[in-house]
Amino acid sequence: MRLGRVASTDGVAFVAIEGDEGAEVAREIAEHPFGQPTFTGRTWQLSQTRLLAPILASKVICIGKNYADHAEEMGGRAPEDPIIFLKPNTSIVGPGVPIVRPPSSDRVDYEGELAIVIGRPCKDVRAAAAASAILGYTVANDVTARDQQALDGQWTRAKGYDTFCPLGPWIETSLDPSDLAIDTVLDGETRQSSRTSRMLHDVGEIVEWISRVMTLLPGDVILTGTPAGIGPMTAGQTVSVTVEGIGTLTNPVVDK
Ligand code: MG
Repeated sequence: MRLGRVASTDGVAFVAIEGDEGAEVAREIAEHPFGQPTFTGRTWQLSQTRLLAPILASKVICIGKNYADHAEEMGGRAPEDPIIFLKPNTSIVGPGVPIVRPPSSDRVDYEGELAIVIGRPCKDVRAAAAASAILGYTVANDVTARDQQALDGQWTRAKGYDTFCPLGPWIETSLDPSDLAIDTVLDGETRQSSRTSRMLHDVGEIVEWISRVMTLLPGDVILTGTPAGIGPMTAGQTVSVTVEGIGTLTNPVVDK
């Protein structure tokens, strides 16, 4: 099932998205999409709505250096244990919303990533049981002020600006995340092209590691790391991240 969130002339709603590409229908979900969603009976043509970020997260947890080739291009080796950091939930935006480059940074990069969306409150989840804690998967761009990442020594500012966490276009609930193509395209040119099978820590290990540290809540989002090929974006460009089996997340880039 594809779960999303849309704005229409009737307001904002969680929806299930069904039907063939170009003719999708959005079925309104009562309340929230967790557990077994119930439907109100109201529907819209998806084209008559605007897709928003598919979920409102209480926190966004990210894995650093989870692909060996990206760790190499950052000038080091991948650490044995996962490196985790947070992006504030205020950095989340939906498809089509401009990524705003702050004037304080000279280099703002894309990082295409597979994102996990948590489906229930959980703590100390074993890797083998991770699927039971996961609602589904979406596409993310872990936008990073690369110069400030180096300057600050920690990454809160570099990763935390408003608009630095595009998510979408929706959550796919029926997906095996173990070997999916992941591609980032900037202005029509492919910049990152890899597969999730090249992750150093897989989805189960990531959920086990993070949930050993902190309680995960429904809607929390985990960014699983970016492959090699990172690079800067400038105002006027358009960036698209595609994960096989989910879809494409596209955002324009502007200067503040
Ligand atoms: Mg990243």
